[in-house]
Amino acid sequence: MREDLASISKMGFGCMRLPLIDPADPTSIDIDQFKAMVDVFMEAGNTYFDTAFLYHGGASEAAVRQALVERYPRESFTVATKCPAAFLPTKEAAHATLATSLERLGVAYLDFFLLHNLGSTRTATFDEYGMWEFAQRAKEQGLVRNIGFSLHDGPEALDELLTAHPAMDFVQLQVNYLDWDDPHAQARRLMEVADSHGVPVVIMEPCRGGRLCELPEEAAAILAEGHPAITQAEWAYRFCWDLPNVITVLSGMSTLEQVEQNTASYRARRPLSADERGTLGRAVEAIRALAVVPCTGCGYCVEGCPAHVMIPDVMEMLNLEAMTRNPAFAKATYGWRTEAGRASSCIGCGACEAMCPQQIDIIHQLEVAAGKFE
Ligand code: SF4
Ligand code: SF4
Repeated sequence: MREDLASISKMGFGCMRLPLIDPADPTSIDIDQFKAMVDVFMEAGNTYFDTAFLYHGGASEAAVRQALVERYPRESFTVATKCPAAFLPTKEAAHATLATSLERLGVAYLDFFLLHNLGSTRTATFDEYGMWEFAQRAKEQGLVRNIGFSLHDGPEALDELLTAHPAMDFVQLQVNYLDWDDPHAQARRLMEVADSHGVPVVIMEPCRGGRLCELPEEAAAILAEGHPAITQAEWAYRFCWDLPNVITVLSGMSTLEQVEQNTASYRARRPLSADERGTLGRAVEAIRALAVVPCTGCGYCVEGCPAHVMIPDVMEMLNLEAMTRNPAFAKATYGWRTEAGRASSCIGCGACEAMCPQQIDIIHQLEVAAGKFE
């Protein structure tokens, strides 16, 4: 990894869940509170801030300007933001986000510019709008120092993208201890693919959207017994902080207390011992035991589906809900994971069930999923 990237503190500040004045208004960011959080984070020697054009209804970037950019020397921090081309109606609108982001942030250049949320059917829009060439030009013009993309897809998709776009300086991936050997998420494989291309990684969702901080009782008890003094969040971060080829690990913080706790954990960090890894492995088994569908993610069912239902993803969402006991989280994840083939598109032909080595009652499970998530 390049030295300037390797020297960045492994604790990054994700600015997508900032404190609000009015909980019903995502743009009402509490700037005073955010300033206090930035101060604690910076005083602890951390530097990486991650925002996006869309976070907080577009208000996150301006909040970063007020709390950070206008209060600290430009060289003392690095800032990343993202272009959500797949959510924008035209190429021109997608290209225009960079100028808007620079203005909102009040910076002359970005340290990290990401194409936001690649994967599945969304990737085609980035190709169609020429976003790869656009990012490259922005780098040549000095508007951006490092270009990359965030991805919600599997290792094959990552391999294809990094092969097609070797100029990428970094990639942002969902990595955490629960997804590490998960047959769908395949976080370990994702990290291996990035490494094989020589591309360093920014880790997102180390706590899987906060779920690994609110574990089901069965798993929480195992971690508490293994090490009573370590919080669930600390287990999750420690797993990621020591992985190789990592630029930083994002933590989406919402309170001053979280910043204080996380910076203290980071300062006191040490590699997980063999015993602690064993404890974590048992907690993962306990979480997995709560799964309701024995789907392995093999994908045999998908080939012959005339309705192109994203069956393995739908099964995973049913398990995600059971394992996290968080219906809202599973429903939100279902929203973007299955946009190319909802459970309700199923016409009941039965071709998938004939192919499933686990003999899952797929048609029934799809009905259950459609009822829960659509
Ligand atoms: S039963 Fe439904 S999900 Fe299965 S192959 Fe037919 S249309 Fe697709
Ligand atoms: S064939 Fe069965 S086990 Fe394999 S992905 Fe489809 S539902 Fe899951």
